[in-house]
Amino acid sequence: MAVNVAEHAGRVADILGHPGKMPIGDEWVAASSGATLTTSDPGTGRALAEVPLAGAEDVDRAVSEARQAFTTWRRTAPLERAAILWRIADTLEAHADELALLETLDTGKPLEHSRGYDLNSAINEFRYMSGLAARVNGRLSPLSTMPSGVFHSYTRLEPLGVIGAITPWNFPLANASWKIAPALACGNTVVLKPSEETPLTTIRAAELMLQAGLPAGVVNVVTGDGSTGQALVRHPGVNKITFTGSTSTGQEIARVAAENMTRVSLELGGKSPNVIFADADIEAAILGAVGGGFWDSGEVCSSGSRLYVERPALDRVLEGLRKATEAMPIGHGLEPDTAIGPLISARHLDRVSGYVEEARGEGVEVAFGGERLDREGHFYRPTALLGASPDSKVINEEIFGPVLTVVPFDDATEVIDAANATSYGLAAGVWTSDIAKAHHFSENVEAGVVWVNSYGVVDPTMPWGGLKKSGWGRENGEQALHEFTEAKAVCMQVGSL
Ligand code: NAD
Repeated sequence: MAVNVAEHAGRVADILGHPGKMPIGDEWVAASSGATLTTSDPGTGRALAEVPLAGAEDVDRAVSEARQAFTTWRRTAPLERAAILWRIADTLEAHADELALLETLDTGKPLEHSRGYDLNSAINEFRYMSGLAARVNGRLSPLSTMPSGVFHSYTRLEPLGVIGAITPWNFPLANASWKIAPALACGNTVVLKPSEETPLTTIRAAELMLQAGLPAGVVNVVTGDGSTGQALVRHPGVNKITFTGSTSTGQEIARVAAENMTRVSLELGGKSPNVIFADADIEAAILGAVGGGFWDSGEVCSSGSRLYVERPALDRVLEGLRKATEAMPIGHGLEPDTAIGPLISARHLDRVSGYVEEARGEGVEVAFGGERLDREGHFYRPTALLGASPDSKVINEEIFGPVLTVVPFDDATEVIDAANATSYGLAAGVWTSDIAKAHHFSENVEAGVVWVNSYGVVDPTMPWGGLKKSGWGRENGEQALHEFTEAKAVCMQVGSL
């Protein structure tokens, strides 16, 4: 039986609890200007909800609430912070079905992905960071130039203050959690600006955090577009901006943040290579390439969008990709069989299709896919392009859709050079049964994460972030604690020289 999408979409206002409002301090407020923006369901193109379009005045209010809350939150006992983070995880888990529904309606991704990846990622992040909250330690560092026993010297890791967090539309709740959980574990407070395309789970999760016992003002949400994000970046009361989004926005943020010397960490775009050597388990590699290239319609920063295949395995891999993608049902994210959902917007669909058409015009072969679906919503078929030249746009620019370039190679040196030849450096995959080849590739590829005989495994313990134009800094793992603290050295004379 077909899913009644309109009926599910009709539940959004009830789930949100405070439709048209955002949580700032202990209040749910509209934008002070009264302005709103509309978020829509990419699977139908129809409107889902109105949210406030926050202006500079609203951002200012949210920052001052966060600053006020910082004075007590930073002094809360670490184990109490840990307990609250754990309760947030429990509360998100108890509401996982409604949050997954919101995520699927807002982003278009299959419900199974929302529940299986996005919700779990958010829940696990809060649990993992709960475990680190009481381990934000400085170190004892005896002075290297003084006799022992004269000075007592140590470092403290102190919270930064108010964190301005800005997130993209593809993993709204997961990305918000990757910022909020470590920021809070370290004693900071947060003002979060979700994407204008997908703000709903962030708003609802903020409400659930309050229910879980988080004091008001510790996490505030300002919904809005790039202008709201700009106001947050410019605000002198923000101590750090943690941003996930496109490289061009990240560059703009770094420029503006420099005016106040606001700290910045940036999780940006990618154009990640996924390399299949002929000695690999080819069936596993094909599945990995399908997941790496087409999961969540390729709207994934670490998507393995450049597939390199050692020449003897090329035909088998291409045929395997074609068969696997033909068997993937394309549809609304709420349809139970859907493996490929819509792209986020009509504009983005035009952008993705534009890349393919330009490549086709240049004589690149479309091995399969390369077309939109004639139905409501913004659907594009999984696509493989063969024969693109190394300097073409489709090899070098992030398409952010279900489009793989497939390139044959003949030896390890050639493929490592090709893998490193773009301006990005977020992720990479390698498939081989030769452990030496796997290590050689992992050592030499320019990427923040390398998957060997797998693709796309993400875990709260694994540092996440990019090299080159894929960004600055790392989320997740213990490294995340350093992104949300500043080291202070204390040196005390306790004896005579
Ligand atoms: P985007 O850069 O267009 O927008 C991201 C966020 O920034 C949105 O909330 C937007 O409103 C805000 N924004 C826009 N202009 C701004 C400005 N001048 N100042 C402050 N904020 C501003 O990105 P997007 O299209 O939402 O997301 C897709 C991009 O995100 C892709 O490039 C993808 O690779 C990247 N991404 C990276 C990671 C990672 O972990 N590296 C994860 C997910 C997505």
